[in-house]
Amino acid sequence: MSLLPITLYGDKILRKKISKVKEINFETIKLITDMFETMHNAYGIGLAAPQVGADKAIFLVDISKMEGEEDKKPMAIINPKIIKRSDETITIEEGCLSIPDVRGDVVRPKSITLVYQDTDFKKHRIKVDGLLARVIQHEYDHLQGILFTDLISDELKKKFKKPLNNIKRRKVEFEYPTSTSVDYQLI
Ligand code: ZN
Repeated sequence: MSLLPITLYGDKILRKKISKVKEINFETIKLITDMFETMHNAYGIGLAAPQVGADKAIFLVDISKMEGEEDKKPMAIINPKIIKRSDETITIEEGCLSIPDVRGDVVRPKSITLVYQDTDFKKHRIKVDGLLARVIQHEYDHLQGILFTDLISDELKKKFKKPLNNIKRRKVEFEYPTSTSVDYQLI
């Protein structure tokens, strides 16, 4: 296993529409294993492949360390599609490993229905709500090139202009390996 550098606000891959996974091979499994290690090392509860520089429609979710969510198993989600969103919305504060030290309220549907494939390429359809639905929607957005900072209020957008610029210009310190390292290469 190895830690992968996390891409940061300003990296082009975070704005790309990510490609579907066509087959599960050794490389895919290694990527997912490394992504789990990378996410846990950074104390993240979700991580999408473009956040480690990979153009693959994969994301991880692990909220099992959160209070009251211990029964939720870590998941690797491949080729997801949200097929239903509830009309009811909820406001929850979000953060992102690619946008360190920036947190803000985001309004999103309370529950969603998701179809995806697992690491055996088996298809699933699940309905989720609560924190799990929130993390899944955030990670799903990463595969469409959308960041949570696109969804915050105009007031917060103004407030975060400077911190976001600082991340873009790498003028902040990071607590985990990031794409600022000189030998960084996209996967
Ligand atoms: Zn994120």
